[in-house]
Amino acid sequence: MTGVDTMHDLFTRARAVIPGGVNSPVRAYGSVGGDPRFVASASGPYITDVTGRQYVDLVMSWGPGLLGHAHPEVVQAVEAAARRGLSFGAPTEAEVELAEAVRDRVPAVEKVRFVSTGTEATMTAIRLARGATGRDIVVKFSGCYHGHVDALLAEAGSGVATFGLPGSAGVTPATTAETIVVAYNDVAALEAVFAERGDEIAAVITEAAPANMGVVPPEEGFNAAIRRLTAAHGALMILDEVLTGFRVGPAGWWGLDGAAAGGDVTATGSAPWTPDLFTFGKVVGGGMPLAGLGGRAELMDLLAPSGPVYQAGTLSGNPLATAAGLATLRLADDAVYRHVDRAAGTVADAVGEALDAAGVAHRVQRAGSLFSVFFGEAAARDGVRSYADAQAQDTFRHPPFFHAMLDAGVALPPSVFEAWFLSSAHDDAAVEAILAALPGAARAAAAA
Ligand code: PMP
Repeated sequence: MTGVDTMHDLFTRARAVIPGGVNSPVRAYGSVGGDPRFVASASGPYITDVTGRQYVDLVMSWGPGLLGHAHPEVVQAVEAAARRGLSFGAPTEAEVELAEAVRDRVPAVEKVRFVSTGTEATMTAIRLARGATGRDIVVKFSGCYHGHVDALLAEAGSGVATFGLPGSAGVTPATTAETIVVAYNDVAALEAVFAERGDEIAAVITEAAPANMGVVPPEEGFNAAIRRLTAAHGALMILDEVLTGFRVGPAGWWGLDGAAAGGDVTATGSAPWTPDLFTFGKVVGGGMPLAGLGGRAELMDLLAPSGPVYQAGTLSGNPLATAAGLATLRLADDAVYRHVDRAAGTVADAVGEALDAAGVAHRVQRAGSLFSVFFGEAAARDGVRSYADAQAQDTFRHPPFFHAMLDAGVALPPSVFEAWFLSSAHDDAAVEAILAALPGAARAAAAA
């Protein structure tokens, strides 16, 4: 270490030179209090802080770590790529391979453009939708987070929810006026918006299964209804799979809820549907900065240089990031998804049992291998189907729950509005450590 002997000193030093001491807001423990853990290293299901303390990690870099931290084969692929050169600003064969891997998993994606962050992917998807339709209005759902794109920060989830913000300073009224926010899971409200302004709407963007207001799965047929309404009014549907893509299954949430493999209903029981555009991030970059947007060739070809919608990036398709993404997708086979599903189910069930035993009213909600806990009688009784429901929970029970887990050696997401992330590296020992920590944390939540 560099002359720093406590986490607090390091955070003080960080705050002197970095706004809030962090490079992304939720890392700051703003809603749970205390000093964030500064991480020295991570391996498999564990992270180790700068004091040498190890924790079972349930953040997994907020999603990318499907295979656990520093998977040896992924690290080896990145090392090999690094030796060949860090960045060329010219096309590489590996980018073609990664695009083919995405297309093979998500056949509705004929072409994909790689960028560096999920924010860039959604920003570009919005621009593409406006360019393709010649319309200005974008519809989003409250509680959904799509990165820090100006037009998409209204009533957003993730850090915007954690810090209780309505949106962001610095976003112009003109931008806000071009965004319509609708309650999630509310087909009637969406129908009303289309009835009134359908011919002005360029796109509806939705999280494939929202996980940035806590996990609020789409009700059966909700995504299909978005598809039906957008198609009827000549608007595009953008399915944001930055978080769910390649995490909840080989073809993301669409593979579970949208695509019908051989039948005429999907795994969730709805009729098959396909969005116009997908956005990806997190797992597709294997822990490196890489994201993408994809869809039908005819639509994607509107992007420069083949079309008039401009988009570019010095580090887009960066060779190290591409190597990490390719290695990750190659390793993420059915056994990986089965393991992550099983581990998530075990932990989610145990959270519910521990809170029941401690007498804490709550609801655990799942979307594939993603889950989160909502505290409170209303959540327990009615479930959480919208951002308003998520905000109405007993948020005060989360900080003591979080800190009791941390004290017991388990690092949860430091916000009640975030999903818990498992990985294929969460073996029996890691899962046992989580289960052992839960009863004490549930009692701490009960005492709040
Ligand atoms: N969309 C969704 C659904 C996300 O969860 C996130 C990030 N959590 C983003 C977009 C933005 O991605 P990034 O942080 O890489 O910009």
